[in-house]
Amino acid sequence: MTTFQEQDATHTNGTSAVGPGRSPALEFASAWDYAPTPESAKVEIADRYGHYINGAFVESISGDVFETINPATVETLSVVARGTAEDVDAAVKAARQAQPRWAALPAKERGKYLFRIARRLQERAREFAVLETMDNGKPIKETRDVDIPLAAAHFFYHAGWADKLAYAFGGANPEPVGVCGQIIPWNFPLLMAAWKLAPALACGNTCVLKPAETTPLTALRLAEVFDEIGLPPGVVNIVTGDGEAGAALVEHPGVDKIAFTGSTEVGKKIAAATAGTGKKLTLELGGKSPNIIFEDASIDQAVEGVIAGIYFNQGHVCCAGSRLFVQESIADAVVARIENRLKSLRLGDPLDKNTDIGAINSAQQLGTITRYLDSARDEGLTRHEPNGCALPDKGYWCRPCFFTGVQPSHTIAREEIFGPVLAVQTFRTPEEAITRANNTPYGLAAGVWTDKGSKIFEIAGRLKAGVVWLNCYNRFDPASPFGGYKESGFGREGGLQGLRGYVRL
Ligand code: NAP
Ligand code: MG
Repeated sequence: MTTFQEQDATHTNGTSAVGPGRSPALEFASAWDYAPTPESAKVEIADRYGHYINGAFVESISGDVFETINPATVETLSVVARGTAEDVDAAVKAARQAQPRWAALPAKERGKYLFRIARRLQERAREFAVLETMDNGKPIKETRDVDIPLAAAHFFYHAGWADKLAYAFGGANPEPVGVCGQIIPWNFPLLMAAWKLAPALACGNTCVLKPAETTPLTALRLAEVFDEIGLPPGVVNIVTGDGEAGAALVEHPGVDKIAFTGSTEVGKKIAAATAGTGKKLTLELGGKSPNIIFEDASIDQAVEGVIAGIYFNQGHVCCAGSRLFVQESIADAVVARIENRLKSLRLGDPLDKNTDIGAINSAQQLGTITRYLDSARDEGLTRHEPNGCALPDKGYWCRPCFFTGVQPSHTIAREEIFGPVLAVQTFRTPEEAITRANNTPYGLAAGVWTDKGSKIFEIAGRLKAGVVWLNCYNRFDPASPFGGYKESGFGREGGLQGLRGYVRL
C-alpha cells in the first residue's frame, strides 16, 4: 500500500516532477520548466475494505476480494470485498427496510442530512482529492478543482430541493420511487456517486450503489462521511465488486429504479434486463461529441476549449469533444496551434500540482486506446503528438495526440475511444458542419465556437445532443441537466429535470 510519506520520498531527489519513483523529466515542453510541486497531504488507506451495508462495513458473504491499484504506479492501494448476488440481496433488503422511515422524515430534515454531507465533503476535500487521484490516476488539479467541489455542490443543490419538491412538479404530489440501484463508472468516481445519490436521497429514496471495480475507494470514504454525520443505517448501501455485482443489482426484484452510467454495450444489456419489470430506468452512456470551430471564432480561445474538451481527464470523459470540425479556411492555423499547445502539456505524476495529463485508469483501457491508435495507423491516418516525451516505465500512460486527414468512415471518427485522442475533420459551410456533427449514433454533447450570436442559436438548435456548449467546453453545474439522445442514453441528471427520475407523480 502506498502511503503519502513514501510518495513524498520519491519527490525529494531534486529532479522534475515525474511518475512516482522516477526521476527523469517527462514534460513535453522545453520552453519552460516547473519545480516539482507534489501534493503533501497524507491520506490513510486501510489494508482492507468491506461493503457498506446497513450502516456497517462487512465482508462479502463469499469471502471474495479484489485489489484496487494506483494506475500511475501499479501499486496495490487496498483489498476490497468482491460482491455477489448474496451481498446485493443484503444491501437491497437494508435499503428496503430503511426506505419508509427515510421517506417519512420531514423533508427539511432530509435536506439537513444532505447539507451535512456536502459540508463534510468540503471540509475533507483535500483528502478526497488525493485519494481519488491515487485510485483513478487523474491529475490532482482536476480532482481538487473539479471532481470534489462539484460532488459537494451536487449535495448542496439537492439539499435545497428536498423540502421544495411539491413546487418542482407544478402541484403534483411527488412520491419517492423506493429503492434505487445505482451503477457508476471509473472516470469520475466520487462525482458520479454524488450525481446519483444526492437527487435520490432528496426525493426520499434509499440507495444501493455499485462503484466501478477499479475505483471503489472514494465511495467507501463517502460511507465514512455518512457515518460521521449520522445518516440512518440502510439509507445508502455500497456494494463493491465487478460487473457480476452490477448485473445482480439490475436483476434484483426488490429494486424499483436503476440508474446507470457507463458503456453503451452494458447499457443495452440493462435496458433488456429491466424491460417489462416495471423498474424505472435512466441510462447515461457513451458519446462521440463534436466540437465545431467556425472561421469567425476567437481561435486561441477555441483551441483552449478543444484541449480542455479532449485531453482533460485523459479523455476519460463520456462527453469528450473527440471529433473536431474546423472550417476549412482556418484549419491550418488551428492545427498548428493545437500542435503547439500539446507541447506545453505536462504528463506524469498525477499527484504533482503541475501535471495536466495523468495515468490511464487501467491496463484494459490502455489496451482499448492502443487498439484504436493501431486502427488509425492501419487506415493510413497522420498522427500528431509531441516529440520527445518519455513515458514513465511503470503505470499506464498514453501520449495525448490528434489525427488529421480524418474522414467520417474512419474508425476513430465513429467509435468512442475514451482516451486522449482527437480526430480532426474540416468543413466548408455551416450546413455541412451540422450534418457531419450529427452523423453519429451518439448524442451526448457538442461544442460550438463562433463570434456570431445568430449562428450560435441556429446551430445549437439543430445539433442532436443533450448538452451544447457555446464558446466553452466541459462546463458542469448541478442546476444544469445532463444526459443524452440516441445511443448516449435517456433521462437527465442534475437540475429540475434530474429529479424526475427519482419521483413518481
Ligand atoms: P462499463 O463496463 O459499462 O462499466 C460501468 C459500470 O457498470 C461499472 O461499475 C461496471 O462494473 C458495471 N458493469 C459492468 N458490467 C455490468 C453488467 N453486465 N451489468 C451491470 N453493471 C455492469 O464500462 P467500463 O468497462 O468501465 O468502460 C468501458 C467503456 O465504457 C469505456 O471505454 C467507455 O467507452 C465507456 N464509459 C462511458 C462512461 C460514461 O460516463 N458514459 C464512463 C465510463 C466508461 P466494473 O467496473 O466492475 O466492470
Ligand atoms: Mg484503482
